Amino acid sequence: MQVCLAASLSAGAVVHDVAETGPFLECALRWCRTGDPAELERLVRSPYSGIDRDVGAAYATLAARTGALLDAIEAGRLALPAPDRDAALTFARRARRVALLASELEDEPLRDAMYEIFELPRAARAKPAPAVPTAEIELTDPIEPEPPGPVRARSRHFSASALNAYAECERKWFYRYACAAVEDRGSAASAYGTAFHSALEDFHGEFPRPDPAQERAMRDRIVHYVNWAFERNRDGFETPVAFELQVRRAQRTAQRYVDWLLAEGKRAPFTVVGREVPANLQLGDQEFVGFIDRLDRDDRSGDVGIVDYKTGSIATQPSEYREKIRAFRDFQLPFYYWAQTGEGRRVARLALIPLKDARLDVKPVVLEVDAAVTADLERARTRMIELSADLASGRERAFAVTSDPEACTFCAYAAACADRPPAPPERFAR
Ligand code: SF4
Repeated sequence: MQVCLAASLSAGAVVHDVAETGPFLECALRWCRTGDPAELERLVRSPYSGIDRDVGAAYATLAARTGALLDAIEAGRLALPAPDRDAALTFARRARRVALLASELEDEPLRDAMYEIFELPRAARAKPAPAVPTAEIELTDPIEPEPPGPVRARSRHFSASALNAYAECERKWFYRYACAAVEDRGSAASAYGTAFHSALEDFHGEFPRPDPAQERAMRDRIVHYVNWAFERNRDGFETPVAFELQVRRAQRTAQRYVDWLLAEGKRAPFTVVGREVPANLQLGDQEFVGFIDRLDRDDRSGDVGIVDYKTGSIATQPSEYREKIRAFRDFQLPFYYWAQTGEGRRVARLALIPLKDARLDVKPVVLEVDAAVTADLERARTRMIELSADLASGRERAFAVTSDPEACTFCAYAAACADRPPAPPERFAR
């Protein structure tokens, strides 16, 4: 197959300096066209935003929580020296102006307008265009698609997280567990979760039983454990400012966690009998592995409670979480339940402890294991056996993408996933 490319630009024509400012412009263009807040966060971190790098990163981190970056800047949500505040406000004003123009202009005139509005370097505009080849170019023949073949998980072991990933998006499971398509380098959110889990593991090593007489010591020591755990995970945060903001958030949440521990210990005395407990279980022909964040023993009945710390978004009501189990969208606590039952323990409670929002009291989502919940857990177990056997069989299949665009928001494979659903409409007006 051959094609002939005719020169469309004469030599010496004036074009934008794509190598220098192109990524910034394209990012701004995508933000204008899609409203994707991730693009705006990239913009604010760019040197062309005019904002200091650490300040931009701090606002991007804040926006990941509040969802409205420009509003946050305009409300002066970060206490900054006057020059930094002015630079941020200038950026917000320019971004809003560009967003307004986006509804009226095509891409190329919009790029031109962005050069003016963001005051991008003038010298870059006068750079001559690279020479455009005029010779014929011979293209290779298209490659035939490979015939479909069996797909198996790379690991011999299954986990509840792997099945949760499959339930959320089959394609994500394929990328992560079958072909390791890209390295998931983790995010500040995952670093926050790792550090917080680690802090609580250490804390309960020293304080297995909430005791009002030790309240002062509990509050002081948890500060130390949080600081130390975050220090060990410092590399997971992009900037010193982001690190500092997350440590402060964790410290506020940790004090609320102590509030809850003391109240719960008074209501129903308990002792922490396990931290990061290995959970190994054979389901059908498949081996499952995992770790349970915390095991409690009720001091009155001797029953066991399984506790999972959650630093991301979770169900807010027990009924909501139970519905996820019934719909086979969450296998984590069912897996832990069967792992502990298999060890001969009587599990009476399953609890998720939300540790995401430092502004809210800690209110666990608790499932008391009665006959009806046990029936749901039985069904979940049967489904885990079916699913894992199916995924281990290596049969040919198409891994469907999710229909829920929210699932794609922080997906590490989004760049590779051409079939993903369109991003949801923006929820905040610009
Ligand atoms: S980007 Fe969305 S559809 Fe694609 S793998 Fe990730 S979650 Fe699934």
